[in-house]
Amino acid sequence: MTAPLPPRAPLMPLDEARRAVLEGLLPLAATETVATVNAKGRFLAQDLVSPLQVPPQDNSSMDGYALCAADVREARMVLRVSQRVPAGTAPHALEPGTAARIFTGAPIPPGADTVVMQEDTEPVGGDVHGVRLLSVPQAGQWIRRAGEDVTRGAVVLRRGQRIGPAEAGLAASLGRADLPVVARPRVALFSTGDELVMPGERAPEQMPAGAIYNSNRFMLRALLEQLGCAVSDLGIVPDRREATVDALRQAAQGHDLIVTSGGVSVGEEDHIKPAVLQLGRLNLWQIAMKPGKPLAFGAVRRSDAADDSCHFMGLPGNPVSSFVTFLLLVRPFLLRLSGVPDPLALDAARALQLRADFDLPRPDRRREFLRVRRNTSGGLDLFPNQSSGVLTSAVWGDGLVDNPAGTAIQRGDLVSYFSFSDLLA
Ligand code: AMP
Ligand code: MG
Repeated sequence: MTAPLPPRAPLMPLDEARRAVLEGLLPLAATETVATVNAKGRFLAQDLVSPLQVPPQDNSSMDGYALCAADVREARMVLRVSQRVPAGTAPHALEPGTAARIFTGAPIPPGADTVVMQEDTEPVGGDVHGVRLLSVPQAGQWIRRAGEDVTRGAVVLRRGQRIGPAEAGLAASLGRADLPVVARPRVALFSTGDELVMPGERAPEQMPAGAIYNSNRFMLRALLEQLGCAVSDLGIVPDRREATVDALRQAAQGHDLIVTSGGVSVGEEDHIKPAVLQLGRLNLWQIAMKPGKPLAFGAVRRSDAADDSCHFMGLPGNPVSSFVTFLLLVRPFLLRLSGVPDPLALDAARALQLRADFDLPRPDRRREFLRVRRNTSGGLDLFPNQSSGVLTSAVWGDGLVDNPAGTAIQRGDLVSYFSFSDLLA
C-alpha cells in the first residue's frame, strides 16, 4: 500500500493576498513636476487647491441680450440696445431700461439679471438699435454663475488621482501650467523559460520542437506602461539557477519592482523561488483563484544597507494566468506605489451586476475569473475555452466575471463583472 499523500497547503484566499501585497506599502517618495500638457496618465503628488473661482464672473451661456427681467412686462416689448459685450471684454453697468447685446462666455453687465437668447428676439432697426423680446424672460436664465464650477480654496483634484483628459483640463482652468506628480514606478521585467523565443528571432516555420514565442513579455510590458511605469525590459532568462540569480541581482539596481513570468511553480525547472530566497525574501503563495494559482511575492536586496531592496512579484507563466494575476495583484500594488490611497476599494466600486447569458454547470472549487463579453442585449457571453493558456479568450473578451468558489451559474443569473477598460483605466 502506498503512503497517503501529505495534505496540500491550504490555498490563500485572493482577498487576503490582495491585502497582503499592499500591507505597509507606501507611495514612492520621489516626485517630479511635469507640464500639464504632458501629465496624462500620471498621478498627482499633492492635492490641487484652487486659487480662484471658475468661472471668474457671472457670464452668458448664450448669444443674445442681457437685461433686467423686470423691464420686460409683456411679450413683444422693444428695448434699446445700449452696449455690445463680446467674450473677453469688460462690460459697463447696464443702462436702466435697455438691453446689452451679449455673446456666449461674455461677463454679465452689472445691473442685468437675465439673458434672452437671440432665437427669442427680433432685431429692430438693425441689431445695434433695438431688440424686440418675443416672450417675458425669467430672472437668472442663461447665466453661468461665478464659481459654479470651482470655488476658491476648494480641493479640486486629490493626491493620488490619475490625470486624464478632464483632469488636465480642470487643472488648466485653474491656471496650472505644470503639476506635481509621483515619479513613474521603475519596473524591471523578464520572462523565464527555455522554451521561449522572441518574435522576430525565428520565423514560425523555423521554430524548434517545443519552442513557443514569448507572448507574456509583450502583454506585461503593455500592462505596465498602461499604468505609467518606466519599464526596463530584460528579455528572456534561461531556466538555470545562476542565470536567474544574476538577472535578479541586476534587475534590483535602479528599480522599484521586478516583475517576472514563469518559473514560480515548484517543478525542477522553476528557479525563481530559490533565486529570490538567495538574494532576499520570498513568499510563494498558492492563491485560491483560477486562472493564476501560483504567485511569488517578496524583495531582492540591492545592497547590505537595511531596507535597501527592490520589491519582487513573480507571475505564473501561462499567459491568461499572468494577465489576470497582473490585473488583480500587480496593478493594485503599482497604484499604491503611485499614491492611490485605496486601490482595492476602487475595484469594489467598479463591479457591475450583469445578466449571464450562459450556463456554468460545473464551477471550479476556486474563485474563478471568467473571460466574458457584453452582448448587445446587455448580458454576458462566455468564451468557450477558459483554459489559462488560451490568450484568445482575453482578446475576445472585454472583461471578467468574478465567480465565487463552487458557484454554478444559470442563464439569467446576475453575476459580478469587471470590464478590462475599467481595470486598466
Ligand atoms: P511556467 O510557469 O514556467 O511553468 O509556465 C507555464 C506555462 O506557461 C508553460 O506552458 C509555458 O510554456 C508557458 N509560458 C511561460 N512563460 C511564457 C511566456 N513568456 N509567453 C508565453 N507562454 C509562456
Ligand atoms: Mg517555465
